[in-house]
Amino acid sequence: ISSSFRDSSVFKSEAYFCGEWKKGDETFCLRNPATQDEISSITDCGISDYNEAIKGAHGAFKSFRKSAPSSRSEALQNIYELMQENKEDLARLVTMENGKPYRESLAEVDYASSYFKWFSEEAHRMVGTIMPGSGSTEKKILTIRRPLGVVGILTPWNFPTAMIARKLAPALAAGNTCVVKPAQETPLSALAYGWLCEQAGFESGVCNILPTSHADVVGKYMCQHDLVSKITFTGSTKVGRILMQHVHNKTGTIKKVSMELGGNAPFIIFEDADIYKALDGIMASKFRNSGQTCICANRIFVHESLYDTVASSLAKRMETDLVMGSGFDVHVTQGPLINDKAVNKVSDLVEDAKNKGAKVLMGGTRASTLGRNFYHPTILTDVDESMDVFHKEIFGPVACLIKFKTTEEVLRRSNDSNVGLAGYFYTANIGTIMKLAEDLEVGMIGVNSSEISDAVLPFGGVKDSGLGREGSLYGINDYTELKSIILEP
Ligand code: ADP
Repeated sequence: ISSSFRDSSVFKSEAYFCGEWKKGDETFCLRNPATQDEISSITDCGISDYNEAIKGAHGAFKSFRKSAPSSRSEALQNIYELMQENKEDLARLVTMENGKPYRESLAEVDYASSYFKWFSEEAHRMVGTIMPGSGSTEKKILTIRRPLGVVGILTPWNFPTAMIARKLAPALAAGNTCVVKPAQETPLSALAYGWLCEQAGFESGVCNILPTSHADVVGKYMCQHDLVSKITFTGSTKVGRILMQHVHNKTGTIKKVSMELGGNAPFIIFEDADIYKALDGIMASKFRNSGQTCICANRIFVHESLYDTVASSLAKRMETDLVMGSGFDVHVTQGPLINDKAVNKVSDLVEDAKNKGAKVLMGGTRASTLGRNFYHPTILTDVDESMDVFHKEIFGPVACLIKFKTTEEVLRRSNDSNVGLAGYFYTANIGTIMKLAEDLEVGMIGVNSSEISDAVLPFGGVKDSGLGREGSLYGINDYTELKSIILEP
């Protein structure tokens, strides 16, 4: 697959704020995670750039908040169409900087664009209510939804296009202005939104994208800036905690926060499961983006009666279906991990599990001949609670198989986690379905399905997986505040 652009205008390396592309004095070097080759040098923004962008966004909010819902809707629909027209080029950016296979990048761009389509429709539906007062039906209580102001958007590298889409689309639909801090690893997909917003007809200052290599300093600054009304973040629970402390430590403005943080998804295969469907589910859920998603199957619980069959069938599927290499190679399904830190983490988790009695059925080593960021797709069996891999988000291509006997046992063990984002289970028993749907401590459940990403679905977690829901008919609520009005005749 060619990595050359049809229209190179999507490729931007300068920051975009206050309606201008700005080449800063400072730059950082962006490298391809598969080859380590330099892709480009990127403008490296600091606090003074962020201050200018936030002030600009605050100024732009004055008129944007009053813009007609139909004009915001049209501009969002334009972004959707532009993303569809430029899908191949946008996918090239994702594969270049993130490393994922081009086909997955195309799917990500599609998924990202669906949020602009969805929220272009939702822009018309900032629904309020009218209720009679409790003491008199003459008295009316009205509620209306208002935008918040400047929204600070901080996003990770694993879905560089889609994670911004899930925040930017509802924020703009509701009439907020935005300042985006993308992950240092993936600035290109983010900067493309500057171009998309320009082309789509958003006024200058409404959407600002500022790459930076100073995530900690800039993150803190955004959280404590008086003109920022809301912080929305997707990333690790560790960084989410830091950002929440920054938001709450200051004596200044009170900000709203949305946090979409780490997961430790249980994937349960009951005795009566359709085993082929479950295997398809593991392949999709575990190996998408080489295991670097927050909703990846992290702990695969298999009923003891199926355990050996699932292990050997999974090994066969992985052997035939998974091919590692450059994301631009049409046969490749497994790209590199994002960086050395990620590979070291996966390697340490596997070593710890081995030392505590897990067996390596497949893989278990780096694939150094392909490059320093590659790790072999791996199956660990006999995994249990004594191992770090049971408790930590793996973020790599390691399938951990855990044996269980009873429903009560697997429910208790699944809930043995401080986080709760996604969970999956496979069974035909309606009683089991109802019980787990109720009692599994996660925000999203796939029943006989691993495909839970959809703009229609409220995406988000419970426990230390975060706050708020993205997408769906509820998604706009997180970017608005309710105003109440009492009206007497
Ligand atoms: P990962 O370690 O998987 O990259 P992170 O949660 O660390 O996940 O990164 C997600 C986002 O958080 C990125 O945009 C990154 O730049 C940002 N980030 C990392 N550390 C900090 C920090 N101390 N303060 C603010 N943002 C941070």
